Amino acid sequence: MKVALVDRFERVHDYLRISVTDRCNLRCVYCMPAEGMQFLDESAIMTDDEIVGVVKAGAALGIRKLRITGGEPTVRKNLVELVERLAAIPGIEDIALTTNGMTLREQAHALKRAGISRLNLSLDSMKPEAFQAITRHGDYVRVWRGLEAAVEAGFSPIKLNVVLVKGFNETEIVDFIRLTKEWPLIVRFIEYMPIGQDAEQWRARYVPLTQVFEEAKAAGLSLEAGDQVRGNGPAEYFRVPGFAGQIGLIHPVSDHFCATCNRLRLTADGKLKPCLYWEDEVSVRDCAHDPEKLKELFYRALKLKPEKHEMARAGELLENGLTPTWRAMSQIGG
Ligand code: SAM
Ligand code: SF4
Repeated sequence: MKVALVDRFERVHDYLRISVTDRCNLRCVYCMPAEGMQFLDESAIMTDDEIVGVVKAGAALGIRKLRITGGEPTVRKNLVELVERLAAIPGIEDIALTTNGMTLREQAHALKRAGISRLNLSLDSMKPEAFQAITRHGDYVRVWRGLEAAVEAGFSPIKLNVVLVKGFNETEIVDFIRLTKEWPLIVRFIEYMPIGQDAEQWRARYVPLTQVFEEAKAAGLSLEAGDQVRGNGPAEYFRVPGFAGQIGLIHPVSDHFCATCNRLRLTADGKLKPCLYWEDEVSVRDCAHDPEKLKELFYRALKLKPEKHEMARAGELLENGLTPTWRAMSQIGG
């Protein structure tokens, strides 16, 4: 089928990230405040039927890959049934999930059967105390059991997302690289992004990923170019020769990857967002059962898609009162 979602900069879009809820059972320091987070009213959240309607329209235009995210997607009621319905949509070839893993032990097998083929698990520390400090409510042992359940269920490869946050986990870079010696995991170090952040905290805690190379070198670990990874997103891949797994680096701040961006985002309250960073969005919820109108709205979102984000200038923008988006990361889906 002819791919139809091409934007002004000739980028082909075949990937939709869906935030199925803005709620979460954790409060990671880089994502949400400890208290007082305002969540959407249940009635403002897209229903299963509405999400399926939007995805059907997207699939007719060339969307092939989905990622289910949030908030924490596994806190959404009936997630397994929703995934089954999405997997049955003609044209959808691949559905991935990003989760904090808190309930993965219980859900991994059912999610696999429902049609999730790839899994990203956020695990920012392998030290239970540091893990709890970053996530505020996280239980490291529980998440690790979730990871084991995901391996048992047959997810492969499994990507671990590690957001580096100064003062919390940047001392564990080498431990995470060493984890890939025996485990065939893809450990992806992610730069702390200035989305929904106060400028000061972000500036104080941001860790550039050049630090990964420096620490690997100091520990006598050489990082060589890795293999292409299925579902290849914005990460660059490396491996230590002889190790089972790989290392991915996602550095949206120090070096953006917008030229090859192939993604649109659907927020939990039914807005198509062409770019993670900027405010522009197109409301689709009211038309979720009107395929022709939805197609128009997909095109409208593409027209709004900027050439690139400006995360590198975030400190300056935030100081001048220019909030790129009012949404928190948990409302966009990361
Ligand atoms: N709750 C799920 C989880 O944590 O995996 C999915 C949603 S979360 C918003 C998606 C990803 O965004 C996670 O890997 C998380 O670590 C990352 N993330 C959240 N806020 C971030 C920030 N300010 N900078 C970089 N990554 C962030
Ligand atoms: Fe929740 Fe994920 Fe945000 Fe952490 S990063 S608070 S787990 S949505």
